[in-house]
Amino acid sequence: MPHRAVIGLGSNKGDRKFYLTLSLRLIEWEIGAVVRSSSVIETPSWGFESDPFLNQVVVVETALEPLQLLDALQSIERRLGRTQKSRIVDGKPEYHARTIDLDILDYDGLHYHDERLTLPHPHIAEREFVLVPLRELGIDLGH
Ligand code: ADP
Ligand code: MG
Repeated sequence: MPHRAVIGLGSNKGDRKFYLTLSLRLIEWEIGAVVRSSSVIETPSWGFESDPFLNQVVVVETALEPLQLLDALQSIERRLGRTQKSRIVDGKPEYHARTIDLDILDYDGLHYHDERLTLPHPHIAEREFVLVPLRELGIDLGH
């Protein structure tokens, strides 16, 4: 049985639509079948002054385990030119413009936490740009 992962995609740098489309292709090839996908929405940048994002949420069926999935998504981020990670500076997250951000919003409803991965993604409830596509897909992650 494949696992069911909900992935949030965001881009606010360069050819944003191209990065969303290309990352979806790579997800199909390297992670698993994209079985649902939301509309692409444009949202102001969250947490930092920057260009607006294009955001989308997709559901993927995958044989990868959670940390393998995170590795696969981060490998795609790197290849699509994402250079800087968010870091914590003076207790606050410092964000950067990114060609592509790929977050695991949910994985089979699993609750998991270590230094690399928290499931479900901890900031879903406060981020309109994932709540709107989730609502469109009729997915309720309990927030
Ligand atoms: P953000 O997505 O919050 O804008 P980053 O993409 O820079 O910030 O991610 C920072 C770190 O968050 C990553 O190095 C990753 O290890 C960690 N992380 C924890 N939980 C998750 C998750 N559910 N999905 C993706 N990354 C996660
Ligand atoms: Mg991320």
